[in-house]
Amino acid sequence: MTDRPMLPIIPSATAPTRPATLLHDRTPDLIDVGAHQLCPGCGEPVALRAIVEAVAELDLTRACVAVFGIGCYTAFSNNLDIEVVQALHGRAPSVATGLVRARPELTVLTVQGDGDMVNEGLQEVLHAAARGERIACFMLDNGVLGETGGHMTAATPLGQRTKNTLEGRDAARHGHPIELSDLVARLDGTRYVARGAVNSAVNVHRTKKLIHGALRARQHGFALVEILTMCPTGWFVDTTEAPDYLVQRRGPDQILGVVKDTTRPTT
Ligand code: SF4
Repeated sequence: MTDRPMLPIIPSATAPTRPATLLHDRTPDLIDVGAHQLCPGCGEPVALRAIVEAVAELDLTRACVAVFGIGCYTAFSNNLDIEVVQALHGRAPSVATGLVRARPELTVLTVQGDGDMVNEGLQEVLHAAARGERIACFMLDNGVLGETGGHMTAATPLGQRTKNTLEGRDAARHGHPIELSDLVARLDGTRYVARGAVNSAVNVHRTKKLIHGALRARQHGFALVEILTMCPTGWFVDTTEAPDYLVQRRGPDQILGVVKDTTRPTT
């Protein structure tokens, strides 16, 4: 028998009266599981959490349908306690259009990556915005096609590392990025556009407010929030470096905050 030091015995009279906080206690009501299988340090679960928390906070849960695109985040499409419809690559805004036109009392939102929205479905999102469809689209923007290997997307900022731009995206070789938020903001059917990020607690907090803004604005017309997310795997950086790399790789035009809001009264 080994001599082990005795652990101090806490008298029950001074033991904490509050029960321990479990992982489950910190999981938002609308996410069914506390664990996921995305890479450590991935920003997509953080962004998704902010979206479902906003849905719950605005009391939209029972009349909300989320249309998912295809990417790493699609792993959550079976784990949410709201109605989810799975769309084909890039087609989520078109599926959402059909849903909201058939059931206008519903809050219909899309969850897509930048590969899904800007590469595969640029036509869908631009036309939905131009038509002024009453949907809220959320683009999780990490500048890579993460699920299929970490390749460059049309939205990848200049200088960002991806699997096929290891030295950084170069305009002469790879073309210029498409700044979707700025493009969509120019369309008259668009009522609200904003850009957030999830690389820090304060940015998550601000992004949640932008999500609230989009969910309210979609009652009047098209709304889009671009959420910059970390992809340490696709960026070839250490998990701990990814929040800072998000700042470094952000394009000069990717200013955080509200890009357009026509729902506010003008003075
Ligand atoms: S590849 Fe990137 S986007 Fe996909 S789960 Fe990993 S970190 Fe997230």
